[in-house]
Parts: sequence; structure tokens; C-alpha cells
Amino acid sequence: MDSAPVMRRVDRLGRVALPNRIRRQLGIAGHDPLEIWVNGEAIILQRLTVRCLFCGRGAGVRQQEGVVLGGKFVCRSCIEQARRESGGGRPRAEIGVRRRDGE
Ligand SMILES: [Zn+2]
Repeated sequence: MDSAPVMRRVDRLGRVALPNRIRRQLGIAGHDPLEIWVNGEAIILQRLTVRCLFCGRGAGVRQQEGVVLGGKFVCRSCIEQARRESGGGRPRAEIGVRRRDGE
């Protein structure tokens, strides 16, 4: 989706305000993370999209929607599924396993 160019000046600290119209159009709120990169002479800004490691569903990056484990995002739904399938907190591999020393 293209839009007409908007002129903004970079302030002395290197900041540029995103026009309200563009933030509304793309659903960008205050404190949302953006990726920034350069393509030739153009500076590209894109809303950071985080996908769940297991189900691939996209999510925001707000803490209440999941957790980041080892640098990978896992959504709340997959965390709950893992809890159910692991017997409520104990890993499945530990259920019914007897120790060799008989304890
Ligand atoms: Zn998931």
C-alpha cells in the first residue's frame, strides 16, 4: 500500500516523528518496535513482526502475549499447550520413570 510522500526534518538528535496518518494506517502505537534498514538511498522502517517458534502465529511483542526463550518467541497458547501436555508442569519424560537405584 503506497501513500503520498510526507516531508519531515530530522532533529538534532537524529529523530524523525512518524506522521499520525501513517501510524494509524499501519497500526503503530507508541513504544512499538520498528526494524530499520537501508536499501540504496532509501531508509526502510517496518513494524517488527514476531512469530511463535512452534505455531508460527504472528504476535505483538508485548510481554502478556508470550515469552522469549533463548531469543525465540513462544506465544501464550503454545505455552499453555505445553503445560497441559506435560502433566501440569512436569516434563512428560519424567512421568512414570523409575530411577535405577530403586529410589
Ligand atoms: Zn504458538
